[in-house]
This record gives sequence, structure tokens and C-alpha cells, in this order.
Amino acid sequence: MRTIDNFSFNGKKALIRVDFNVPLNAEFQITDDTRIVEALPTLRKILGEGGSVVLMSHLGRPKEGPEEKFSLKHLVPYLQKALDTTVHFANDCIGAEAVEKAAALKPGEVLLLENLRFYKEETKGDVTFAEKLARLGDIYVNDAFGTAHRAHASTAVIAQFFKGKSCFGYLMARELENIGKALENPQRPSAAVMGGAKISDKLAIVRNLMDKVDRIFIGGGMAFTFIRAQGGSIGSSLCEEDMLETCLNLLKEAGSKNVEFVLPVDAVINNAFANEGDIKTADINAIPDGYMGLDIGPASVKLFREKLADVRTILWNGPMGVFEMSSFEEGTKQVALAIAAATENGAFSLVGGGDSVAAVGKYALKQKVSYVSTGGGAMLEYIEGKALPGVVAVNEA
Ligand code: AMP
Repeated sequence: MRTIDNFSFNGKKALIRVDFNVPLNAEFQITDDTRIVEALPTLRKILGEGGSVVLMSHLGRPKEGPEEKFSLKHLVPYLQKALDTTVHFANDCIGAEAVEKAAALKPGEVLLLENLRFYKEETKGDVTFAEKLARLGDIYVNDAFGTAHRAHASTAVIAQFFKGKSCFGYLMARELENIGKALENPQRPSAAVMGGAKISDKLAIVRNLMDKVDRIFIGGGMAFTFIRAQGGSIGSSLCEEDMLETCLNLLKEAGSKNVEFVLPVDAVINNAFANEGDIKTADINAIPDGYMGLDIGPASVKLFREKLADVRTILWNGPMGVFEMSSFEEGTKQVALAIAAATENGAFSLVGGGDSVAAVGKYALKQKVSYVSTGGGAMLEYIEGKALPGVVAVNEA
């Protein structure tokens, strides 16, 4: 893996793709700076070496060209303070102004380019657009793991213009290293804990994990399609009928591959999708009509905890129930605690995907797991076994 440590940036201009897609409030203030903070070590290293930095990013989903609320100029004051240097801004990410401002950069200075997605060419992966961006720097650095699964102009296509001069930033390198640790050469036994609602999105991941891990735990809404496939009664719990056969095949495959499939044995059910109602516990195979399973039950928590106790590597994606509602958060909380406990005992744990990351934050366990991945979609595609265009492009350039 070629990283910024393989280059000397002294007197050079680094063109860095970052993911500064941060939430802004009505006054255009940053309400969560995590994504920027994660990229700072890369920027500081290059600036500290006497390099200059040209930053490119997207922000939000602008539809038709420039829009004030999606302008990256709102980030300038924050960056100036965080990096303690002059941060210039180009009102257009390509063209004369950007070229001039990039050329005028002094060592240690930063130029932030306007939102790449003001051009539809960005998401289309347009080569001409990528070539125009490429004029703005000497070395290309990709540090945007969150968009590594997209073959966009700035994330992948651009690398071809930096033969032997493209590399990963620290954030990207750390993500790849940690996901690799969980998937490529895991300490055994290894486990994946999967949850959440959208089973069709996640079955391909479960299939790929079958060749990677020893135990697969399924919780959350996605468990009920497996239960239904095996003939259980699930009331009005989430179920994707057209996935029943796929679920059965996966269970069969697990058997033949000696992968232990751990499904919930009970559920916390309710007669409405709400925090209040007729809430009780039911056997996972005997959920009455008119009720839906909204969390794994206490017996499942016990089972999951026991079976997580001895694992040496854990990958977690997706909540065990509707943890946003206090009545149905216990399963997710207990599994998060079990993963933290296993980590304390020496296991390597990796948490990824918006909701599991939120859960780890909610229960103050961020410091108690080994690694929290910042890129939900990219991480999922990686564990699904797909090549990430942003990674491939840098490796091949
Ligand atoms: P996903 O985007 O597929 O990871 O799903 C995350 C969402 O799944 C969260 O918002 C949870 O509230 C929801 N979820 C988890 N368990 C259940 C369940 N048993 N029934 C309905 N929704 C669920």
C-alpha cells in the first residue's frame, strides 16, 4: 500500500481528495466535524513537511450546479483554525481561478476547491473533468474512504494522471488496514454480527463472510426472514418474501462450510411500531399475529453474549433491534457491551455502518472497541468482497 509516507512533499503540491461532507446548520456552521478531524493528520503531515495542499471534496447532493447551502466555502474558517494556516478558496473547482490560486500557493498553505458535485461530471467519472482537476497538484492523495466505493472523477478516474505519484492518506490507509485485519487474516475464532433492517442489501455480505469467519450472528429486522424461511411464525415482523429461498440456501451453505449461524431464539414484540404498546417477549418461532419483533429477547442476548465471549475477531454491522426506541434498545446495547468485553479480553473488534457506529457512540463504547470505520457504504462493499474503485485506481496508477 503506497501512502503519503512514501513521498516527500517538500516544495510539492498535494492534490487531496477528502470527504468533507459534513452536516451544516442553517447558519452554515459545522454540527459534526468528525470527517474533517479524521483527515487532519494527513493534512498536517504534508503541510509540516513544507508541502502545500489543494483540497477537493463533495458536500451534500446538489442537483443542478452551484447552490449556496452546498458551498464548501463555509468550511474555510474552521479549516483555518484547525490547521493554523492560510486557507484560500477557489469558487470553482476547475478553470482559471483554481489553476492560478493553486500555482500561487506557498509551502504550508491550503487551497480548498468548491464542491466537486456542482459538476455532474464528477459522479459520472468524466475523464476530461478529472484531467482538469489533475492540473492542480503534483501528487494525488486519496483520503476519502467514505467515497472509495464510487468510481467518480476525483476518487478514481483522476489517478491515471498521476502515474507513480498517487497514494493513500492516513485515514484511508488505516481503514484498509483495519478492515483487512478483520477479514484477511483474522485471529480465530472470528465472528460477524449483522443486524439492521434491509436484508436484501446484506445477504451478499453474509455470503461473502461465510468464507471469512467462523460464526455469523444475525439480529435486527433481518433475522425474521431467516426465521420465516425455516417455517417460524413471525407475525407482522419485517420480512422480505423474495429472500426466503436465499436465506435457506445460506443456512445450508453455512452447514456445509462449518460456519456457525447464530440466530435469535426470542424477540421483544409489540402490537405497533412504537415505543409503547403491548410489549412482551415471545419465542422467535411463535410471534402471534398482530405483533412484530422489534428487538432480540433476553434469551437471545444471553446466547449472543456467550457465543461472543471467546471470539478473537469481531466485525459488527447493524443494530439488533429498533434501538432508536428505548423499549427496543436492550439487545443492541448488550451486544455492544459484549463486543467491548471481548475487546478487553484481547479480541480485535471492528464496528462499521451508520447505525452500529451510532450505537457505539450512544453507549459510550467508542474507546472500548478496536476500530470504528468511518465509511459505511464503502466498508459494506469491501466486506461484500467487491473491489473499491478508489483503492484500485491508486494501486494501479
Ligand atoms: P439498516 O439500514 O439496514 O442497517 O437498518 C438499520 C435500521 O434497522 C435501524 O434504524 C433500526 O431501527 C432498524 N431495525 C432494527 N431491527 C428492526 C426490527 N426488528 N424491525 C424493524 N426495524 C428494525
